[in-house]
Amino acid sequence: MLASMTGVSGFRLRLPSPLVRIQDETLDRYGIVLYLKRDDLTNPDIPGNKWRKLKYNLSAARDEGMKVLLTFGGAYSNHIRAVAAAGHHFGFQTIGVIRGEEHDPLNDVLSQAVGYGMKLTYLDRLSYRDKKSPAIEKLLRDQFGDFYLIPEGGSNALALRGCAELVDEIKVPFDFICCPCGTGGTLAGIATAISGPRRAIGFSVLKGGNFLIDDVVQLQTSLLGHRLHNWSIELDFHMGGFARRNAELDSFITLFNDRHNIQLEWVYVAKMMYGLYNLIERGRFVSGAEIVAVITG
Ligand SMILES: *Cc1c(COP(=O)(O)O)cnc(C)c1O
Repeated sequence: MLASMTGVSGFRLRLPSPLVRIQDETLDRYGIVLYLKRDDLTNPDIPGNKWRKLKYNLSAARDEGMKVLLTFGGAYSNHIRAVAAAGHHFGFQTIGVIRGEEHDPLNDVLSQAVGYGMKLTYLDRLSYRDKKSPAIEKLLRDQFGDFYLIPEGGSNALALRGCAELVDEIKVPFDFICCPCGTGGTLAGIATAISGPRRAIGFSVLKGGNFLIDDVVQLQTSLLGHRLHNWSIELDFHMGGFARRNAELDSFITLFNDRHNIQLEWVYVAKMMYGLYNLIERGRFVSGAEIVAVITG
């Protein structure tokens, strides 16, 4: 069914995404084998983990005969844009419930979403915090009628299944797999697909990312009925908080680009890579360790 979904209106996916080994002085010095899982190259409109998280939600929406997708996000949410693009490519109407007030003119993310036909509506910050409550859902159903609800960040049990497939694509041996964490859905899903002594490490891009641990536990429980213990989250590499950057991060991005000719996306991916190199330099991994870093976008 998904094979047929990926053929519509010229929508193309590069899957499995490429796996490339990179080498540099730091990795050599600590004896680390590092692979990048280039999920950023999957599709320009619905990159990497956004596609993986949406895939089974789109087929569920279609199976349920739903015509409308409704989801939540901040004004700069990659997920909002991805859902808008998915609606455009797969024939759903889309509604984006945006945190905070409307700003005129729309920023790039929201104007692209509108360009894909998404209808935007706004929730004040207090109500937005309450977005999972039955009261808010009823409000939205009264206003918009029937819809398939995709939670913020696209993270639900079906999203975990999609993210688990990323692991199956990796055909080299590895000990650790790393990804950035916004809502934790990607990490939660990856961890369901690794076995034995392998471990998944998430890197929070949010300040005060402690709640992510509970969220990952909850997501895994919703899929499996219990949590797994093969993952952890690094909380200290947010560089000031979500969508904040500092000189240290910027010089890391420049250095990485000089060495590897890869421009790291700064909101998520660069913070993970910065954190990973930091852990390597602190001796967290034994010499010979094989690590996969997921370039989520
Ligand atoms: C949305 C996003 C994430 C966050 O993934 P979660 O599953 O919400 O933790 C990570 N990386 C990129 C590039 C993203 O756009």
